[in-house]
Amino acid sequence: MVRSLQTKHTHSKKTAAAVTLIAWISLGVVVREYASLSHLDKQYFGFPGEILMRMLKLVILPLIISSMITGVAALDSEVSGKIGLRAVIYYFSTTIIAVILGIILVMTIKPGVSQTADHIDRAGTTPNVTTVDTLLDLVRNMFPENLVQACFQQVRGFAHPSFIMFPFLHMVKVPFKPTPNITKDYQIVGTYSDGINVLGLIVFCVAFGLVIGKMGEKGRILLEFFDALNEATMKLVQIIMCYMPVGILFLIAAKIIEVEDWEIFKKMGLYMVTVLSGLAIHATICLPLIFFVIVRKNPYTFALGMAQALVTALMISSSSATLPITFRCAEENNRIDKRITRFVLPVGATINMDGTALYEAVAAIFIAQLNDFTLDVGQIVTISITATVASIGAAGVPNAGLVTMVIVLTAVGLPASDVTLIVAVDWLLDRFRTMINVLGDAYGAGIVQKLSKRELERMDLTSDVDVANP
Ligand code: ASP
Repeated sequence: MVRSLQTKHTHSKKTAAAVTLIAWISLGVVVREYASLSHLDKQYFGFPGEILMRMLKLVILPLIISSMITGVAALDSEVSGKIGLRAVIYYFSTTIIAVILGIILVMTIKPGVSQTADHIDRAGTTPNVTTVDTLLDLVRNMFPENLVQACFQQVRGFAHPSFIMFPFLHMVKVPFKPTPNITKDYQIVGTYSDGINVLGLIVFCVAFGLVIGKMGEKGRILLEFFDALNEATMKLVQIIMCYMPVGILFLIAAKIIEVEDWEIFKKMGLYMVTVLSGLAIHATICLPLIFFVIVRKNPYTFALGMAQALVTALMISSSSATLPITFRCAEENNRIDKRITRFVLPVGATINMDGTALYEAVAAIFIAQLNDFTLDVGQIVTISITATVASIGAAGVPNAGLVTMVIVLTAVGLPASDVTLIVAVDWLLDRFRTMINVLGDAYGAGIVQKLSKRELERMDLTSDVDVANP
């Protein structure tokens, strides 16, 4: 009885959400058609959405620090090593599967064969970035020289001439930083998320958590502090979630009003269909199949439990900013152990991006097709490797994948500036690939939990206080 009432309540909530969503999309379309809004008016219209983004980004820092430290400290080093290894194996294998799927689709559909690069407007030129640069930056960022600076790195690229050469970077918000050790003047620092060096913080928190876990009574004080910080942050997330429907709806309406060139969608239709069908197959067949084979539970019910996080990712195009919601859905709806989520989700949001990898492989081959550039087997293998590296290097922020695409293009000798051919539709594709990135992280947490069941049970038996699962 109670259950059926609950189901009814959930259904009516979902219907209400769908109706409101349609109402706001319609509002966006009507305002766009009949009201002539100035650039400033459009900004005002998007203001409530902007506030939501700011609130979500605000909690990323305390959330990552508290969840990683308590997550790692609650496990012993052997267990955390095993969990980490399982997570990394999952990340790599699913990313490679996504890349291969993207390559098969783009080689079969051939979206770029019927037209040429000259038919699509270029939006500017790009700086050169190589795979080695990205890998070096990735490793360099794992060891921040200053912890405080790692929490709010200055975004400098906007003042640099490369910003003028590369106009769409104002949307990308990936900070540029001089890297004196290598030849390039300025680097794309893909592991930075809105000024936070996420990867550097994760490495520090893992080390710090391991040390605290071994400190005995003294360590317990610190552990309790970070655990309380985590609980308080999650309470804040709960408050932010009340505002989410309003913020998200303003974000959609404002985007509909803002888009200037709808015609481009016709020109790029087949390319978009290729990317979107790849993402759909990965999300509805590949990932669920892997999940089912390992976890033996219904993957679609699991995905439904993540619905709120997936919608958020779709609306805000940032897996890092979606992280607070991903935590809540995974822990509360899908009952994933906090010792797993705290450890696996922040790392996943930074390096596990199946959607981005698939998109980068498709986009690179699409650009080759537009240029009548025949790729040999070696170059296709290079695309799969560089697309994987580029997705790992991309930050969980809007359009980051578009920037790291340059690596894939230059690796096979395509003009880096051709990334501008696909800029116009990136805002839309970005939303869908971010959604798949978040879904991949969530399935990963479920799989790692299943594989680590024995260790977790053993720990439950031996530990008297379970800080991670109070
Ligand atoms: N926006 C994506 C994310 O946050 C990254 C990308 O541009 O592909 O996961």
